[in-house]
Amino acid sequence: MTTDQDSPNDLDFSSLSLEKKSYVHTSYEFAKPDNLEKVLSESPIVFLPVGCVEYHGPHLPLGVDMLIAEAFCHRTAHVTGGLVLPPFWLASGVLPLPHGIVIDLELLRQNIRSILTQLAKGGFKTIVLFSGHGALDHLYVLREETDRINQNFEEVRAFTTVWNELNFDLDGDIHDHGAKVETSYMMEFFPDLVDLMALEDDPEASHTGVYGPNPRFTASREWGFAMADNAKNRLAEEVRALQRGAKADSWRLLKGLVERLQSGDLEIVGGTRTHNKDGEERIILHFYNPHPQSKYITGIKKIQIDHEEIDLSSGFLKNASMGEGHTDTEIKKLGPLSGFYVRREQEMLLELSNLSLRSGSHSIHAEFDIAGVVSVQAEGNFVIE
Ligand SMILES: [Zn+2]
Repeated sequence: MTTDQDSPNDLDFSSLSLEKKSYVHTSYEFAKPDNLEKVLSESPIVFLPVGCVEYHGPHLPLGVDMLIAEAFCHRTAHVTGGLVLPPFWLASGVLPLPHGIVIDLELLRQNIRSILTQLAKGGFKTIVLFSGHGALDHLYVLREETDRINQNFEEVRAFTTVWNELNFDLDGDIHDHGAKVETSYMMEFFPDLVDLMALEDDPEASHTGVYGPNPRFTASREWGFAMADNAKNRLAEEVRALQRGAKADSWRLLKGLVERLQSGDLEIVGGTRTHNKDGEERIILHFYNPHPQSKYITGIKKIQIDHEEIDLSSGFLKNASMGEGHTDTEIKKLGPLSGFYVRREQEMLLELSNLSLRSGSHSIHAEFDIAGVVSVQAEGNFVIE
């Protein structure tokens, strides 16, 4: 085949075809009915890779999450047996960056529920929902739906996981967006699709959609292989345990990951007094996330100011600047499906309209739920002018 000069993707796809060649033996869509019957009688395992199309910087294709998920499932299926479905690429929690496509959580839920139910009815005993897309609200829905299958089908073990969770005990960087981690994965699976030269020749440069140090100077195929291989071995272990009848638990690995990435307290860094159009007084508390990863706040357990618990019912959380994650979230609406990201090394503003504080110094004690699985605090003093 010759290359069309006008092709929008003027890349050499030889690595893509090399990796995809290995899909032949494990693809659900290539299986004929007798292949499928054989799989169902010998190793009734099925993988559903889930990804999305989302901007990942100038050096990576939009389909990073689905490309990684699909390739990773096939590599794992080569170890465990079973078949891999075509990737499901419609996702929630897609970052508000150019060219991404997002669907709402309910639509995601209905689609995933329908697919999983048919797989369970179709005779698969182990169902692995593997996401290359790490948004926690999206993953929460996937986990709820695999839990539902476990409740409804006694014989079936359904399990949801994501690549960074499977590496929660691997030393080194295991989670980012478009930076060292995702670029390294792509260099391992599809090196021809990575264009490091599209990134600036400066280690300090930042790029839209790249959340981490410039991958031109940090990513490597070696690191991509190390992560992919460790994750594959762990997933194969999980699958074998499920085949032996172990109870499926899609929350255990999440907890390990959130403890590793998102624990560590927030800091109280200030308080300001403002007035709205009607002259009503508002207090804005400034919290700072000093850690290199965003924290996904899914609830506020309590806030005490000068040892008195305060009413949060009219409160809002806001990010001080535009960017990743949701903004302007009502505290009473927080939950695992509607959390708030406090961005790494940035401030979160907590706005309260039914609180008045005298000028001077105040003490605060706050407790936040993170991703529904761990909690962090903020403790100290702040001054209101
Ligand atoms: Zn990604």
